[in-house]
Amino acid sequence: MQITTREFLRRLGLGGAGLVGGAAMADEFVATNKKLPPGAIGDPDAVWFGQRIYPLPHTIEDGQSCYMKDGKIVQPAREIPIFHKTDVVVVGGGPAGFAAAIAAARNGAKVALVERYGSLGGLFTNGMVLIMLATSRKEEGGKWTLVTKGICEEFMNRALALGPKIATKQKKGNGMSHWQPTVDPEAAKYLMDTMVAENGIEMFFHSWGVDVIQDGDAVKGVVFQSKQGPQAILAKQVVDASGDGDIFFAAGCGYRQITHAIGFVTRLGNIDRITAKKPPENIETDIYGLKKPWPIRSNEANPSTWWGGRLGPQGDGLSVRDLSKAEVLHRKYWWEHVSKMQKTPGWEEVYIANTCSQIGPRATRLLDAEFIHSRVNERAGGNAKEVIGWFGADGSRHPAMPVSYRSLVPKKGDNVLAAGRCLGAPDSVDTFRLICPCFVTGEAAGTAAALCANTGVTPRNLPYSVLAKALKDRNVYL
Ligand SMILES: Cc1cc2nc3c(=O)[nH]c(=O)nc-3n(C[C@H](O)[C@H](O)[C@H](O)COP(=O)(O)OP(=O)(O)OC[C@H]3O[C@@H](n4cnc5c(N)ncnc54)[C@H](O)[C@@H]3O)c2cc1C
Repeated sequence: MQITTREFLRRLGLGGAGLVGGAAMADEFVATNKKLPPGAIGDPDAVWFGQRIYPLPHTIEDGQSCYMKDGKIVQPAREIPIFHKTDVVVVGGGPAGFAAAIAAARNGAKVALVERYGSLGGLFTNGMVLIMLATSRKEEGGKWTLVTKGICEEFMNRALALGPKIATKQKKGNGMSHWQPTVDPEAAKYLMDTMVAENGIEMFFHSWGVDVIQDGDAVKGVVFQSKQGPQAILAKQVVDASGDGDIFFAAGCGYRQITHAIGFVTRLGNIDRITAKKPPENIETDIYGLKKPWPIRSNEANPSTWWGGRLGPQGDGLSVRDLSKAEVLHRKYWWEHVSKMQKTPGWEEVYIANTCSQIGPRATRLLDAEFIHSRVNERAGGNAKEVIGWFGADGSRHPAMPVSYRSLVPKKGDNVLAAGRCLGAPDSVDTFRLICPCFVTGEAAGTAAALCANTGVTPRNLPYSVLAKALKDRNVYL
């Protein structure tokens, strides 16, 4: 016999006082003579969503499982269903993949975008790295020019137009010489969804790219894994914007793998309720020797929030052990630090609004590309040929530099291009991996992929003049 919530609480001995606090609690199981909608198999006495439950055929049928043979685990061969056919498939929906998909669509290709999580933006939004650095170049005379134009500029302007609490404004004077907006992550996700839909891109979330379909050295599509099992997307061109080179790795393109600090970002709330005027004396340092943050005002457009990253342990960003350890370490740090803040006069109201849902391995696999960017060469005058865009200067660390198309093209393997933080740039990866440069390389890779898909040319043989014209037509700074 079903009982009501009220009766359940009465039996627990909470009938009197408990119900005072729970006065708003609805009794879900009041017996009625309600009829279920046709085909439904829910509970007729439940609230409406509990009634409207319908049977489904199985989403996927179980196949033959892995088995042991001579002490080894063997995966049986299986046929993979073709889920979709397209001109260009982009794997990874971070800044690079987002820009690649938009650019490919705007250049006339039918585009599918495959993302392992449920929202776009990668480390920018799900990693909550909110400041779009490296946008501009300092000209002679000290004037700053925006160089991350094209889709990056469009995105920044559209974010700013969403409202006063979404993106930090361009400031004149005040020590800020060029615009590097900090953007609210939820607004950025919404804007990316909007732009993807506007451009007619097929968006597949919760889909993890795990393999490629190959004919010799030529890639013919990708295999992704999801709750629906492994499925294939056939495509004329593939852009690997996974950040970690998962797709060019599967295609057998060469790469170099590096360790990097595995970072983590946290947002704090109630920053506008901090009454302290300056950080406490003698601030502790963390295990990396960096002072722990004691914000006294917001660093975002929204005055009530503050974001901050941590350096994090050096590790292999592809290792589940290293990633898992880093997650726990970072969360412990923030919980303990904020708990201390809450006991400190002036910071009592501060709380952890959220921690990033995508941890930050800054760099892992870097493509063995036809052209490898080298900091030494760039400083000696620059040797990037076939320029497809620029990244801007980042504070005092480096001047603005051009990016070569050939750093997106693998030495080995056809019909695949890299974009974003996994391109060919071992010693200058800390510059290329910033958000705006990733927009730039994404836009170039997407444009090139569409031109190749439209004409049947491989990325290696795409005439640079054609690519450069297409980029210039879209306001890319070359
Ligand atoms: C702690 C930290 C602080 C940083 N600070 C700044 C900063 O202040 N300013 C700045 O400009 N940059 C900063 N960066 C760098 C910047 O955020 C990233 O390098 C940039 O977002 C990389 O963009 P991307 O598109 O190449 O890769 P990512 O942002 O990593 O996006 C990759 C996307 O691909 C998806 N994906 C991965 N593998 C697969 C797969 N196999 N199948 C399907 N989808 C997949 C991911 O879920 C993700 O959405 C920081 C990075 C870190 C980690």
